[in-house]
Amino acid sequence: MLNDYKDKQELAYNLFIKDIMNNCVTHAYLIDENNYSDSFNMVLSFVKAILCENKYFDNSKCSECSLCKRIDDGNYPELKIISADGTYIKKQQITSLQQEFSRSAVEGKKRIYIIRDCEKMRAEAANSMLKFLEEPEDDIIAILMTNNINNVLSTIISRCKVIKLNNVINEDIVVDEALEKLAIDFVTTLETKGIDTIISVKDIWFSVVSAKDRDKMIVVFDRMIDIYYDIVKIIMGNSNIKCMKWKEEIIELSKLNKLEGVLEKINILLDAKDSIKFNVNSNLLMDMIIISIGGINNGSRY
Ligand SMILES: [Zn+2]
Repeated sequence: MLNDYKDKQELAYNLFIKDIMNNCVTHAYLIDENNYSDSFNMVLSFVKAILCENKYFDNSKCSECSLCKRIDDGNYPELKIISADGTYIKKQQITSLQQEFSRSAVEGKKRIYIIRDCEKMRAEAANSMLKFLEEPEDDIIAILMTNNINNVLSTIISRCKVIKLNNVINEDIVVDEALEKLAIDFVTTLETKGIDTIISVKDIWFSVVSAKDRDKMIVVFDRMIDIYYDIVKIIMGNSNIKCMKWKEEIIELSKLNKLEGVLEKINILLDAKDSIKFNVNSNLLMDMIIISIGGINNGSRY
């Protein structure tokens, strides 16, 4: 809910609400994230508030709304999210977005695109973007996001309504032992019981992290990646590991693994962590992780 940000991001919240209430949502916003960790979820809440006919910010009306659910699942066709493909956002990503948006909307009246880390557009991509911003269409809304506004071209900044977020730390996430414990529990269960326990492994996961909580998912993925890197170290005979408090568990896990398999698991987790930015369906993502990692353990390839 956009209401969740009322206190933490008072200024941005008020600007968003004012634009929606006055029916004057601008054709281009630039969100200066200012390292606020929950910025993407806040932007998604803004998007829902614009699109949802049930008036998303009224809690009572929107618990069962299929539109908001589809936005959460990454299945709403009139919302496109662009992230850097590697180090940069490429021109081709912008031009294919423009092509898609040159057709009229399949459903709904407004179409929205979000460009994350928009400072990663190189000159060519930025030029295509500028043309898009210069000839706005009534029903298209651009939301550009950046943590690095000093690297965004001034020509882009000048065409957007700039909203700077407060640099508040999401205090729930700073040191959360439940998330740390989830990482080791999840890896241990997956490694020892394997793919047959797909449902119980997923239950462990979703009992701690809700499917919508992308920030927390990233924290747990990071910790799982640390654990697998530690397994690599133990296999290589180096006992100077990062997650010392789980040393015994990690030594046991290293006995179940071969080096190539662990490296592949690390890649799976790095890709998964990256794909969270793309607003993927968390449930399917967890299935993919469990099946891929379980498949490696079942000796299908190693
Ligand atoms: Zn809704």
